[in-house]
Amino acid sequence: MKSIYTIGEILVEIMSDKIGQKFNQSGIWRGPFPSGAPAIFIDQVTKLGCKSGIISCVGNDGFGQINIERLAQDGVDISGIKVLPEETTGSAFVTYHLNGDRDFIFNIKNAACGKLSSSHVEPELLANCGHFHVMGSSLFSFHMVDAVKKAVDIVKANGGTVSFDPNIRKEMLGIPEMSEALHYMLELTDIYMPSEGEIMLLCDAKNPQKAIAHYLSLGIKEIVVKRGSKGASYYSANEEQHVESYRVEEVDPTGAGDCFGGAYIACRNLGFSVTDALTYANVCGALSVTKKGPMEGTSTMDEIRLFVNEYIHPEVEKTH
Ligand code: ATP
Ligand code: MG
Repeated sequence: MKSIYTIGEILVEIMSDKIGQKFNQSGIWRGPFPSGAPAIFIDQVTKLGCKSGIISCVGNDGFGQINIERLAQDGVDISGIKVLPEETTGSAFVTYHLNGDRDFIFNIKNAACGKLSSSHVEPELLANCGHFHVMGSSLFSFHMVDAVKKAVDIVKANGGTVSFDPNIRKEMLGIPEMSEALHYMLELTDIYMPSEGEIMLLCDAKNPQKAIAHYLSLGIKEIVVKRGSKGASYYSANEEQHVESYRVEEVDPTGAGDCFGGAYIACRNLGFSVTDALTYANVCGALSVTKKGPMEGTSTMDEIRLFVNEYIHPEVEKTH
């Protein structure tokens, strides 16, 4: 089996105990939880039975260890994670507002994962890689962009495919070189996975339909739009599919997009149809929001099937 690889930030997440808790006030914080969008993505891929690995850097500290141990335990190839003795592992503090919005304080650029560069991308590591995934959130510095470009070029030269989740931090779009890197990624992407609010970001189209048509004209083969509690949609040159989300109790929305994306890519690589991949990804996204902690919500095939078997559709519930 060909493997799936990704690259980018590994960090711990530390979350507010209470909704509405402020960063400028003392309070109780929960964590550390293993995190980082590419790390959550690849953990989900691996839990569904695909061979996989991640290229990243952590510090020689407990925050690095908790991530390495979790990824290794779940079966991710961790040989591409370098431990940098002089650096500290990245972190993100998150607090939730009463309206459901989130605020973060990130330590990524100046942390170990921010030191990742093209020298960490070893062609031997990617020799058997059939698919490579990129998160826009990882394109946060010029040397990260170079590292991503090197990895994507190696995988493409070996005949592999590429998926891209823009996962954009708003502040990145204002930096011309970063914006350029996001557009560069689009040109190399086979499977594009934006959130609903990101569809229009990387083009000048006047509406989402035109944006989708534009992305397909660039040569992107599959576009999967994540719509939070409203489900997800799939678009290709000649087909469109939509799924409603499963009704679950949302405990912590962070990581839903990464679990969804990991499940979709794993399922497509396992040979699942688009309809089945979309369904499994929709379940993984729903299950992820029921658990506190971004990587705590990744699912196995058995957990997905159990959820689907036991799920009672709200329409059915009403008639009883
Ligand atoms: P993030 O970047 O915060 O991880 P995202 O914006 O990339 O998230 P979302 O659209 O929030 O991704 O979530 C991805 C998928 O997870 C959705 O398309 C849906 O299938 C599922 N999902 C998310 N939130 C819910 C929810 N509250 N209830 C059920 N399913 C959900
Ligand atoms: Mg996202």
